[in-house]
Amino acid sequence: MSYRDYYDLLGLDQSATPEEIKKAYRRLAHQFHPDKNPGNPSAAEQFRHITEAYEVLQDTKKRTAYDRYGASMARGSFEGFREPGDFSPPGNFFDDFWGEIFREFYGSRRQRFTRTRGGDFRYNLEVSLEEAAFGMETEIKIPRMSICPLCRGSRCSPGTLPVTCPACRGIGSLRAQRGFFITETTCQRCGGEGKVIVRPCSQCRGMGHIKLTRIIRTHIPPGVDNGTRLRLRGEGEMGRNGGLPGDLYVMVSVRKHPIFSRSGNDILCQIPITLVQAVRGAEIEIPTLRGKAKLKVPPGTPAEKSFTLRGYGMPILRGSGRGDQKVKLQVEIPSKLNRRQREILEEFNQICAGAKKGRSEGSARN
Ligand SMILES: [Zn+2]
Ligand SMILES: [Zn+2]
Repeated sequence: MSYRDYYDLLGLDQSATPEEIKKAYRRLAHQFHPDKNPGNPSAAEQFRHITEAYEVLQDTKKRTAYDRYGASMARGSFEGFREPGDFSPPGNFFDDFWGEIFREFYGSRRQRFTRTRGGDFRYNLEVSLEEAAFGMETEIKIPRMSICPLCRGSRCSPGTLPVTCPACRGIGSLRAQRGFFITETTCQRCGGEGKVIVRPCSQCRGMGHIKLTRIIRTHIPPGVDNGTRLRLRGEGEMGRNGGLPGDLYVMVSVRKHPIFSRSGNDILCQIPITLVQAVRGAEIEIPTLRGKAKLKVPPGTPAEKSFTLRGYGMPILRGSGRGDQKVKLQVEIPSKLNRRQREILEEFNQICAGAKKGRSEGSARN
């Protein structure tokens, strides 16, 4: 999701008054509300953007911060306005504002049914280390309740309308006299709605919603690690009675790599070299996430010596720069020698012993 200017989104400029902001948002919310645009993900996306813009601009403190720090602030700190699960709208925003809007959407009768925000979904995504390093585009398939595309949530067979409940004559409740008392009970026939559906929609069987598999295309940013949690706003369970949808949390896990392991943003690997390479020095090829790199092993390198390839590690998630690659050399000690090799090694040993003796005699003379 690319960043968009909040004023632009609402079609305003920076001098807009709170009244103008509210008015603009009201107009756009009507236009893009998901319930008015079933099966239209770009409208839902737009609705989320304008809601985000409105939440910032209608709050004097947040608006001042946004005006001062602009884009860089907006995504970082404003992202955390609401903790997952805690859906507390600013002030009595919902009571006044949404009350008005949803009264118009659903008629006042629906007011009796509580708006509930949809639940959050969790999706486990396994990626390779390379995908974690470079980022990727992926498709997530989520079966979830959606507004029925055939009846558009009306629950009626297309071309038909609900009729006034014959049992309660549209009142939603029934009165009965028992002796001296008059009792009022919710109408069983219409469940208190005052209307009944004669021909229910065949696709959703009169529920108004249906389980559909939704395909969400999303970008996994470079640098994700085991336990990284990515939040996709509004892609969770649908809300009830006009409530906002929940969010989708993508939980990332990174597959084990045959060569590399990871420590924070650093990549670790072990590279075997021969005894002769370690003693004499060598230039060896090192596998990295970005292809092969050359490493100069100086003569007389001790076993298990570590080298650092700067900037060859993992990119820093939502930041700049990269970790390093740490290469640990493993000197292979030959376990089986043939006769010739043993002879040479023996000879080498004698030369070493001779040199040592010579040195110690030399030093004794002095
Ligand atoms: Zn339907
Ligand atoms: Zn009824």
